[in-house]
Amino acid sequence: MEQIKEGVKKVFLETFGCQMNENDSERILGFLKDIRYIRTNEPSSADLIILNTCSIRDKAEQKVYSALGRFRELKEGRPGLIVGIAGCVAQQEGQKLLKRAPYLDLVFGPHNIHRLPDLIGEISEKRARLVAVEQSASIDENEYGLVSASGEKAFVSIMRGCDNFCAYCIVPYTRGREVSRESGDIIDEVARLAEGGVKELTLLGQNVNSYGAGSDVSFPELLRLVARVDGIRRVRFITSHPKDISEELIYLFAEELKLARHMHLPVQSGSDRVLKEMGRGYTASEYAAKVKLLKRLYPEMAVTTDIIVGFPGETEDEFEETMALLRALRFENVFSFMYSPRPLTRAASFEGQLPLEVRSERLQRLQEAQREISLERNLELVGRRVEVIVEGTSKSDESEFSGRTSCNRIVNFPFDGAAGPGDFIEVAVTEAYPNSLRGEVPQQGK
Ligand code: SF4
Repeated sequence: MEQIKEGVKKVFLETFGCQMNENDSERILGFLKDIRYIRTNEPSSADLIILNTCSIRDKAEQKVYSALGRFRELKEGRPGLIVGIAGCVAQQEGQKLLKRAPYLDLVFGPHNIHRLPDLIGEISEKRARLVAVEQSASIDENEYGLVSASGEKAFVSIMRGCDNFCAYCIVPYTRGREVSRESGDIIDEVARLAEGGVKELTLLGQNVNSYGAGSDVSFPELLRLVARVDGIRRVRFITSHPKDISEELIYLFAEELKLARHMHLPVQSGSDRVLKEMGRGYTASEYAAKVKLLKRLYPEMAVTTDIIVGFPGETEDEFEETMALLRALRFENVFSFMYSPRPLTRAASFEGQLPLEVRSERLQRLQEAQREISLERNLELVGRRVEVIVEGTSKSDESEFSGRTSCNRIVNFPFDGAAGPGDFIEVAVTEAYPNSLRGEVPQQGK
């Protein structure tokens, strides 16, 4: 039975959405650890429940509301329980959430995570219901650096917010304007993580290529500094904006071998008219030229993308332009979504909003085509040897290991030798599926 020390409380934390939210959840846990909270997977035994939410799409937001409903009964049975909402839905809805859910105690946005200990203290003392959604134009380093590293992989936020205001996107409203952390603070955090055993690092930002505006180093310079930290063996970064990705960054992969051979470069559409309406700042052929350059220079590089289908006014021909781009560039993987109007965004009031059936049918066609391409791309690796970092046991078979290649493929393989999470080992790829590979560890001398 779990032994809880006196004065220690339990928090149940559920995270929705992107890796930025995953990283925020790590920070939430870091601040809570400081006031003696430990994590539990059982909401029924928690003293504090937090949902860290995503509002990037309508579907994601609805998921949050149904999750929140599950905790109503718990709160009614235990009035001392504190229930809070964090993340983008919290930022977007603020005070309205307290009205919508009378059993909710706390609503706090991404800029207010570091205030959590004070907010919890105030709620416990005064039984207050609080909303903390103020946004600040600068980053106070005390907001970061409390992430507790566990395991071989970690995420590090290098910046916050976005200034691009793409027509469909709520992020600049929920996460605020773009601001970069100081490079020295980032390097200190990376060094601490490396000392704790982290070997693979992912640098996070909404638009990493514009890191450093007004700061001491550019993004490629930051990557060089991070890659030099002792103990770090692989460096990834997301998300790159196609309009801002520089030649300096593209050529850095040749010089800096710790950079993972994977570029996530969201294209969103293959139609120039739609791209213009979206406010993306590039054409389909400019985008394709960058992908082709990457593939020509680094044939082993995996390029993945995001696509939105059914943007307002998208015609069948324009959707076909996206399909043509997909077939021409043969991405290793695509994260595809149906357009859904988001509050505050320009596109929500555009004419030509498409019916759900049209958007859903297009999404299905695109995903079917991509499934085949992903499989073909994975089949190209069969017979090759790849280096993976062992991430743990395979999701489908606990007797097997699961590892990740530099090009971001998952490889499952049986292994009874002495390896474990965090080890880098070589695996021979034997089979391919659309979303993973299978392999075996070559016997010594073979
Ligand atoms: S670049 Fe565009 S899509 Fe990406 S976060 Fe900024 S506004 Fe949203």
